[in-house]
Amino acid sequence: MAYKISDECISCGACAADCPVEAIAEGDGKYEINADTCIDCGNCAEVCPVGAPSAD
Ligand code: SF4
Ligand code: SF4
Repeated sequence: MAYKISDECISCGACAADCPVEAIAEGDGKYEINADTCIDCGNCAEVCPVGAPSAD
């Protein structure tokens, strides 16, 4: 299981800065989570201003 970022993402970068395992990187039009690295901590969902990350 891993978190995923929806199309609501506005590419603010807050989640990437708060991910303890650096699983988040800027992708094509939105940020993306590396499912192999994500440890399901939920930080990204907490800091996102638009609620884009969610548990899969
Ligand atoms: Fe990173 Fe935690 Fe979000 Fe996974 S749930 S992408 S580990 S901040
Ligand atoms: Fe996108 Fe939310 Fe991450 Fe900002 S915090 S880059 S809006 S997913």
